[in-house]
Amino acid sequence: MNDYSKLIFEKSFVNGEWINESDSKFEVINPFDLSVIGQVYNDDRLLVKKAIDVAHSAFKTWKKTSVKERSILMMRWYDLIVQNKNEIATIMTLESGKPFAESLGEIDYGANYIQWFAEEAKRNYGDVIPGFTSEKRIMVLKEPVGVVGAITPWNFPIAMITRKIAPALAVGCTVVIRPSEETPLTALAINYLAHEAGFPKGVINTVVGTNASEMGKELCENSKVSKISFTGSTTVGKILMQQCSDSLKKLSLELGGNAPFIVFDDADLDLAVKGAISGKFRFGGQTCVCINRILVQKNVYDAFVEKFTAAAKNLKLGNGLNPETQIGPLINQIAIERMNEMIQDATSKGGEIKLGGNFVAPQFFEPTIIANANSEMLFAKNEIFGPIAPIFKFKTEEEAIEMANDTIYGLASYFYTKDLNRTWRVREALEYGIVGINDGLISSEMVPFGGVKQSGQGREGSKYGMDYYVDLKYVCIGNVK
Ligand code: ADP
Repeated sequence: MNDYSKLIFEKSFVNGEWINESDSKFEVINPFDLSVIGQVYNDDRLLVKKAIDVAHSAFKTWKKTSVKERSILMMRWYDLIVQNKNEIATIMTLESGKPFAESLGEIDYGANYIQWFAEEAKRNYGDVIPGFTSEKRIMVLKEPVGVVGAITPWNFPIAMITRKIAPALAVGCTVVIRPSEETPLTALAINYLAHEAGFPKGVINTVVGTNASEMGKELCENSKVSKISFTGSTTVGKILMQQCSDSLKKLSLELGGNAPFIVFDDADLDLAVKGAISGKFRFGGQTCVCINRILVQKNVYDAFVEKFTAAAKNLKLGNGLNPETQIGPLINQIAIERMNEMIQDATSKGGEIKLGGNFVAPQFFEPTIIANANSEMLFAKNEIFGPIAPIFKFKTEEEAIEMANDTIYGLASYFYTKDLNRTWRVREALEYGIVGINDGLISSEMVPFGGVKQSGQGREGSKYGMDYYVDLKYVCIGNVK
């Protein structure tokens, strides 16, 4: 194995230094065998406050750096992440259970946000607007909002950080990151590499600890923070929105999903099966765009179930560090309990287990396929976040659209068809921020990622990504004679 230990750090990183205010520690657990892979100082609200002060003071100079300077630093950071990708991927797999190939893929994906926004930084253009009288000249300028608080989950330990902070840094904001307590080591490793790349002290700070709610409160309530960017559950997103209301803080929220995957009678079934396998079982079903409900039209229902089951049977469970592994462990015991509850609920309501259905010690769950799914079952309304694939049957296109939209969520959706007119009709009818047509893999730094309804607000990535970290300043020059 590579020497990943050179990138293991067990303290928060604030103002260019490793620091702990607290003397207690928490354990970082490998979900594969429940072994302890790190003992991290368990910091809290106090250090978050300190980091905010530091970021606030660093903002005064960072916002004045030229875009070229910022872009060069970001490219150096990108290079360092890519150079250390095997080591970071090992840390990521150890703390999240993600299969190593997927960890490597995520590092490319996460680093690409840094590269993309290093380039976009130079195109943070404003506007010149014709004066509304002959003596006025008008400009619109984009200015960084200030200190950004980034609260991130464990399922993409790098990418969820970089897609928030890369646009923020590009436009001249400074950041305080509060990563998930399940995956603090990857976050600290990339913060270290940012420091090595030459970012000035206080521009990027990471505070680690288990007291998510108090740390979150400090970020939301502290008047020196101008913006919160959060990826996680809808429940927590709502809490953050309430906490930000007092100071009317700007918010970007990338929340839960309940992605439908619709297979029409006219679809290429083999292509649909391939898309369903990757869209459902990537990282064991633990991504926010993972398929939650597979909806299949009546005439191809049995054939799809058969082909999909045959393909899923071959998926290999195991240690993420083993190159053969396709499905790693689930992140924690709560996830296992959720899988068991969903399966019991589904079978008690007429669901038919076609594959899997079992817990495997210490923390795995078999890829599971449930046919005869219906709208009464828990997963019809709730996010699964695990390797269960329920398959629903529908008769008409109208019925499929109604079923697909029958959720409070609106992040990703997918459908398979060869009919050109249907492609347009269904695309227009789906109430989702993302629509994948004949394709299950839709994420990239080049596209705007985000949802509608209770899946959140704001978009990450693409040319739109920077908009959420700038304020528009309209400047009117009068009496020009
Ligand atoms: P998930 O189920 O994906 O872990 P959560 O919304 O629970 O989703 O968590 C996402 C991130 O938000 C994690 O880093 C978690 O520690 C953090 N978090 C959880 N509760 C709160 C809270 N009340 N305030 C701020 N952050 C929170």
